[in-house]
Amino acid sequence: MVLSRFAPAPTGFLHLGHVVNAIYVWGLARAAGGRVLLRMEDHDRIRCRPEYESSILDDLAWLGFEPDDGLHPLLRQSDRGDVYRDALDRLRRAHHVYACECSRKHIAGERYDGFCRDRGLTDGSGRGLRVRVGSGVETFDDLLLGVMEHEPAGQCGDLLLRDRDGNWTYQFAVTVDDMMQGITDVIRGEDLASSTGRQLRLRLMLGGAGRPHFTHHPLILKPGGEKLSKSAADTGVRELRQSGLTPEDVIGRAAAAVGLIGQFTPVAAHRVADFFRDSPRGGRIHRASSR
Ligand SMILES: [Zn+2]
Repeated sequence: MVLSRFAPAPTGFLHLGHVVNAIYVWGLARAAGGRVLLRMEDHDRIRCRPEYESSILDDLAWLGFEPDDGLHPLLRQSDRGDVYRDALDRLRRAHHVYACECSRKHIAGERYDGFCRDRGLTDGSGRGLRVRVGSGVETFDDLLLGVMEHEPAGQCGDLLLRDRDGNWTYQFAVTVDDMMQGITDVIRGEDLASSTGRQLRLRLMLGGAGRPHFTHHPLILKPGGEKLSKSAADTGVRELRQSGLTPEDVIGRAAAAVGLIGQFTPVAAHRVADFFRDSPRGGRIHRASSR
């Protein structure tokens, strides 16, 4: 059974980029007879706000995308400190987890050079936690991007699990949540494709059996080629609602923006599986799910 998740971060309002993700998540899951869970990725306590969360839930309901287990209880990463601490303890038993006091400024680029690995620092405030990442390549067959190879140690070095402010990192929280919720299909934007190798490695280090299938889908790009971020007049769902558009208009607009339809036509949330049912992509997720 395909089980996927829609996992917004309440750091802003819902925009067309989220709608594209919802189309792929619900569409691919439904086309395979599968289910969708909702998860609030509010691990960043500084940037997340309750008013964003309630607005996201409201817009999602208005669009017609319904999570299969409902919203009660709503799974929030901010409620899962105990779960992440347990996972951290599990990692500590088999791997080298160490405190790191390097600030982002001290780390040139994306890769951490292991400066604190053998310094024997004690855990404490103002210090993050990392796990040593060994060499080796992680390979996966992305539904849309094809076979990809990542080498986590070369790409990012030892992984940050908790940052210097005490926040669990995206990579760690997502890996633990996907494992514990039994997610079979991770469906997200192409901007997150590069995270996949390190999440697969972390899963392995946490003793995870099996691994999910990955689908990284196209993003809506602004005319300048940058990706959409915060809500704006022409892309924010609440602004589009206020301008009189229907849910079908908004979903159709998002589908057209990433080429799922040749030109705009209204699409209802319960019809998004039609994009994938008879396509080679839908067929592939079908076969993957029956493995
Ligand atoms: Zn360090």
